[in-house]
Amino acid sequence: MSKGFLLVVSGPSGCGKGTVCKELFKRNEELIFSVSVTTRKPRNGEINGVNYFFIHEEKFNNMVENHEFLEYAQVHNNYYGTPKKFVLEKIEKGEVVVLEIDVQGALQVKKAYPEAVFIFLLPPSMNELKERIIKRGTETEKDINIRMKNAFKEIEFIDEYDYIVINDKVMDAVEKIETIITAEKLKVKRHKNIMEKIIS
Ligand code: 5GP
Repeated sequence: MSKGFLLVVSGPSGCGKGTVCKELFKRNEELIFSVSVTTRKPRNGEINGVNYFFIHEEKFNNMVENHEFLEYAQVHNNYYGTPKKFVLEKIEKGEVVVLEIDVQGALQVKKAYPEAVFIFLLPPSMNELKERIIKRGTETEKDINIRMKNAFKEIEFIDEYDYIVINDKVMDAVEKIETIITAEKLKVKRHKNIMEKIIS
């Protein structure tokens, strides 16, 4: 069995991260999705424990104090964090755990777990990104402007990532991520005991 690893997927709001990851999980049932904790209010159709664990800020602060997060950050005026225990247990068991998190969180993960794999998902263009956020219809004009400003800031950190995937067509982006996972699983460093197995 190869060692498990963290796969971090970031990209500006509206670049289709959610859609791409949903399709990725549909086609690869062995992948583990890390359900984040957030202080954001649920959107229509979002389910507690499936999309996020929706909690109040006070509880979030308690979790921070108790060191329960692998990483956490304030994104667009809400707090988001990755529960540490769940993720580390799965990796220990050899699973690939996918974190769909923002750049600030990804940088924290990189510091603590440099062996994680980092993918940056990009829209075909920034105009297209704005169109997608507007079409989604879940944000106010003020929120849209905040998200566009944040998108430009996030892209500045692209050099910290290992791979770029442009989300023009969802299935193309999914296939590229699958290729990255396959290649990463084959890395020598994830098969430390391979020679013992082959020789015995
Ligand atoms: P949304 O509110 O649209 O679901 O997510 C807003 C942003 O928060 C997205 O960029 C998403 O990737 C990021 N995000 C979601 N969960 C986490 C998390 O646990 N940690 C961090 N740092 N960012 C997260």
